[in-house]
Amino acid sequence: HRTAAALGPQGRRPPRFPAPGIRRGKSPAYDVVIAGAGFAGSVLAQRLAEGSGKRVLVVDRREHIGGNAYDHLNEAGLLVHRYGPHIFHTNSDDVVAYLSQFTHWRPYEHRVLADLGNMRVPMPINRTTVNAVYGLDLTTDAEVEAFLAAQAEPVAEIRTARDVVVNAVGERLYETFFRGYTRKQWGLDPSELDKLVTARVPTRTTTDDRYFTDRFQAMPAHGYTRMFEAMLDHPLIDLALGTDFHDLPPRDLAPLTIYTGPIDAFFGHRFGKLPYRSLTFRHETLDQRRLLPVGVVNFPSEDVPYTRITEYKHLTGQVHPRTAITYEIPSDEGDPYYPVPRPENQALFKRYEELALTRPDVIFAGRLGSYRYYNMDQVVGQALSIYRRLAPQLDAQMTR
Ligand code: FAD
Ligand code: UDP
Repeated sequence: HRTAAALGPQGRRPPRFPAPGIRRGKSPAYDVVIAGAGFAGSVLAQRLAEGSGKRVLVVDRREHIGGNAYDHLNEAGLLVHRYGPHIFHTNSDDVVAYLSQFTHWRPYEHRVLADLGNMRVPMPINRTTVNAVYGLDLTTDAEVEAFLAAQAEPVAEIRTARDVVVNAVGERLYETFFRGYTRKQWGLDPSELDKLVTARVPTRTTTDDRYFTDRFQAMPAHGYTRMFEAMLDHPLIDLALGTDFHDLPPRDLAPLTIYTGPIDAFFGHRFGKLPYRSLTFRHETLDQRRLLPVGVVNFPSEDVPYTRITEYKHLTGQVHPRTAITYEIPSDEGDPYYPVPRPENQALFKRYEELALTRPDVIFAGRLGSYRYYNMDQVVGQALSIYRRLAPQLDAQMTR
């Protein structure tokens, strides 16, 4: 395990990851080529190299590793997440044990406030939220439960992102916290999205104001990028950044491909484009120590174009006279960040998934390759399980 310098001015050392260069030689030079150096690609590269002695080429079209979890020191020396706030949380001991080989952790429990214009209240909705919005003084779980039950508008069959919320807390809280935010984030009404979208955000009758309740909640002590560097730092792994998989020369192709980009792009959008939602990130550094009381403030109102503001110092614990924040402004144009969970998109994805069966030399993985709204830990879990399935076949090839 490589120890990294502490954050701060002395931590400004540039990531020591210019690509070691693509090996030139007999074709094919590699056993596996991996498109994408995010969680899916990096975990699989590490396992294939370290666990099975495979020669791996990882390519990413971006100039950096880490995928959407990439973080870096900005011009002021503040650690920021280029693609929006990434908070690590999981209930999987396997995933924690695996990643802990490559990083120490800084315990961090994420908290979010929703800005309603005249007040900021905890999100997910909890007892404090209910009391503030309705001007009540409920003091027990049972009282809050009874109150919310009276507000709730039962939905016979819960299918959509609207159904989940209205069924649990009724129209008023739905309108206040979910309708506008979701319409901005997805460019769709909650009634047009699968229930899994808003089911990510629970309702609580307690005063617990943490965003997540997973057993393990922490940030990589020196950032995600450092963790990815340690993962990919292996003599059998070559890395080519700023390189699109689709532009690879034939000699760099391998008998096995792992593709973690959008599955429809792999097939040249043959059946039409799979929708992925994008975001524009507005990064700012402010001449003040602190802006927000918590790591993220959400803005459910459609009167402002952004969905949330993140202040990284809460996440990183960094001490610095200035502070860095990011606004997230949803858009249809740009890098694909979110698969859009709704039935017609799932049906289109299924067609691509069936097409993938005709390519046994390619494994599709990760959030974009699987077209699933995965968190980081789920992507790591998926990658580890793909490797577990693959390893015996690879061992058999070696002894052949
Ligand atoms: P990615 O990180 O997207 O990596 C795929 C890589 O493939 C990219 O780097 C891309 O450049 C590359 N690529 C694509 N096509 C090609 C090609 N043709 N050739 C070469 N390279 C290619 N998860 C959490 O657990 N907690 C959070 O708090 C959290 N917050 C998030 C906030 C935002 C704004 C977003 C967008 C996501 C968040 N996530 C969070 C989800 C998290 O980002 C993903 O689960 C995880 O990063 C997915 O990893 P991946 O490897 O599947 O994909
Ligand atoms: N959501 C909302 N209001 C909020 C927070 C979330 O309507 O204040 C909805 C919205 O549709 C969002 C989804 O719940 O896309 C999932 O929220 P989460 O915070 O998990 O989104 P992510 O961090 O993945 O962008």
